Amino acid sequence: MATVQELKQAACAAIERHADELIGISKDILEHPEPGYSEYRTARVVAEQFAKMGIKFRAGLALTGLKGEVKGGNGSGPRVAIIGELDSLIVNGHPHAAEDTSAAHACGHHCQIGMMLGAVTGLMQPEVIGELSGEIVPFAVPAEEFIEVARRLDLRSEGKIEFLGGKQELIKLGEFDDVDIAMMCHTASDMGAHRFAMGGTSNGHVVKYVRFTGRGAHAGAAPHMGINALNAATFALQAINSNREVYREQDTVRIHGIMTKGGEAVSAVPADVRLEWRVRSGSPEAVVRNSDIVDRCFRAGALAVGASVSITNIPGYLPMRHDQNLMDIFRSNAVGLLDENKVLIMPPSRNRGGSTDMGDLSHLVPSIHPYTGGAEGPGHSSEYLVTDYRQAVVNPAKIMAMSVIDLLADNAKNARQVASSFRPAMSRAAYLNFQRQRAEVLEYDGGEA
Ligand SMILES: [Zn+2]
Ligand SMILES: [Zn+2]
Repeated sequence: MATVQELKQAACAAIERHADELIGISKDILEHPEPGYSEYRTARVVAEQFAKMGIKFRAGLALTGLKGEVKGGNGSGPRVAIIGELDSLIVNGHPHAAEDTSAAHACGHHCQIGMMLGAVTGLMQPEVIGELSGEIVPFAVPAEEFIEVARRLDLRSEGKIEFLGGKQELIKLGEFDDVDIAMMCHTASDMGAHRFAMGGTSNGHVVKYVRFTGRGAHAGAAPHMGINALNAATFALQAINSNREVYREQDTVRIHGIMTKGGEAVSAVPADVRLEWRVRSGSPEAVVRNSDIVDRCFRAGALAVGASVSITNIPGYLPMRHDQNLMDIFRSNAVGLLDENKVLIMPPSRNRGGSTDMGDLSHLVPSIHPYTGGAEGPGHSSEYLVTDYRQAVVNPAKIMAMSVIDLLADNAKNARQVASSFRPAMSRAAYLNFQRQRAEVLEYDGGEA
């Protein structure tokens, strides 16, 4: 029987042999970016690779997700998901943006598909997989970036999805019910001298689709006949900014958004103004509290000019909870591959301010969401570029493969220990209940008040 060390060497050697191919797949996805719930081409790339690798899989989960199944050769045991996110952002002017849609991989998700396929390639070497118990679940998931809210609300009203985030929807569909442990790795550009960072947490959030309705009129001849929805929105944003001093320091509050429609024609009083807004905070309770404040501000805008406002509140993500046992395993492999001082452990209180639906999953299943270097430029901007593909694809593939070996070798002793010592923050039913309570449409007529 091979030692764990020998299994790791065999997996890493295979990943190394396929390094150029894995980087090539990531770069191909980079050149064909697709935002969430429209990753059809990207899903085809994954399907082709799964088929080539002989992985049994199901496709079309939450529209575009693909879930594979690779059984270990040494009997049953826990099921470990290796997750890769399929979706891009939309960033005008990104050097790799799609010409027609401005979709762009400005968050590095294209590397996640490469590293997921890489990790599984290493694990599927006959001398490795034969020694593992349980199952590996390579899982390509849609729609992590919470964007294009109006389009996704259309998908929701067409009955194609309920939740606007991919992992949320997959949780609802029960696709994580048979997953005992979940891991992924995300690129980052703010790592300094470190190559990997893990721990800390992320913000929870709620998303708002807001529509102010006024009354159109000739902006020159008869503005007094109109109700200016743009002025209502402007006033609401001023009110939101005026509340900044009530947000608590420890809640890492981020309130931000965009106006997706500001009126119809410059010559008319704007009667239809739409916004996509987001309220982020460090705990679900703070999200609820701050979301109420922001709703009040939108009403205030409508009241000020006598417009009406419709606020569609949409369940966003939960803060990330890293499983300590999993983190220890990932860390020891990262340190083994690189160097102790290349791996940063962040304290649980460290909140990077962003949000991920891996946070939702981490409430139900032991999970980790470490960061790898390899990127430069501010995240989500046109300057965000992966510049070191070995660090962004090959190294995380090796570390995830080695971590799965630690979990599933030796009759899956470590995986069983991780799974049995995990205490979920909520059941799937409680999770769905909590999120569905966030989903509401508030209507307010400032003209009637
Ligand atoms: Zn992102
Ligand atoms: Zn991301």
